[in-house]
Amino acid sequence: MRPALARDNMHRNDAAISTHSAASSETIGSPDIDARPWLTIRLASPRGFCAGVDRAVRIVEEALRRYGSPVYVRHEIVHNRTVVEDLRAKGAVFVDDLDEVPGDAPVVFSAHGVPKAVPAEAERRKLLFLDATCPLVSKVHREAERHFSNGCHILLIGHAGHPEVEGTLGQLPPGSITLVQTTEEAASVVPLPGRLAFITQTTLSVDDTAEMVAILRARFPGLEGPKREDICYATTNRQAAVKAIAPGADLVLVIGAANSSNSQRLREVAERAGAVRALLIPTEAALDWMELDGVTTLGLTAGASAPESLVEALLARLATRYRLAIDERRVTEEDVIFKLPAPLAEVASAV
Ligand code: SF4
Repeated sequence: MRPALARDNMHRNDAAISTHSAASSETIGSPDIDARPWLTIRLASPRGFCAGVDRAVRIVEEALRRYGSPVYVRHEIVHNRTVVEDLRAKGAVFVDDLDEVPGDAPVVFSAHGVPKAVPAEAERRKLLFLDATCPLVSKVHREAERHFSNGCHILLIGHAGHPEVEGTLGQLPPGSITLVQTTEEAASVVPLPGRLAFITQTTLSVDDTAEMVAILRARFPGLEGPKREDICYATTNRQAAVKAIAPGADLVLVIGAANSSNSQRLREVAERAGAVRALLIPTEAALDWMELDGVTTLGLTAGASAPESLVEALLARLATRYRLAIDERRVTEEDVIFKLPAPLAEVASAV
């Protein structure tokens, strides 16, 4: 049965729009509409922007509206080049360090969270700073502090070098937290004696993390921590959605940045869940047509920092060569919205 005829028709119309509006060389010489082969697209839902990323982007936009350009942003606000370039065009200036921020300009901290030393330094310099740390990352920071004040040594399940992990490690004095990255490390880690707790990065593989937590709980029966882990709702839902589209798909495309943890996990989950292959691409332009040789069923999703416009752009590009039959598979509804920090929330509601 041909799936989702209404969506199918909609995207045939999209193809016509893209042909006329983009006028790209790609559309010149496209096969005649009746000659194009069918491509079934299993579209994962939920996909793309989560509430934390949406809030972080709105914080920069509202700061630009309130304070004018430039607004400085420490590190990529979220791991997506399209989002970063869009904000740069609106007047945001991205820097690696607070040293690069002049004393009279506002600065925003990224959604991944920052070590405590960063806001402390901003306060010392009397900078106007806005913290775009996702509230679900802040929740993990508060958990870490609670465990520490209860006298626990803490195991953090996460990936070394990721900004969220750097931010979480930086909530407590050095040596308070031990990073555990793999099942092998979970099986061999030797924590400090005494009470022990665990926390996790929010964007990990749900299955891998469950395995690591099980190993730790078996080794340390008194281990304190959340019932399962700290993986956020958006990461959990996007992985569940990819599991719904992957089995039997010839290829799953994940739109997202190479340095986006949740996007990388989606690619891995797709392959483990039964896709023949899975690829992570930053934008529609990065898709090599050769990758579609022999593909008749294509899965498609996007990481939590990838805007829906990138999904639409990829569908438009695919529609230049294929007749698309869209089969959207929604595993759950999402209605999470995070408020802006107080001063910006007032501006947003007044506009
Ligand atoms: S992926 Fe999860 S933790 Fe990260 S910004 Fe989105 S909601 Fe927050």
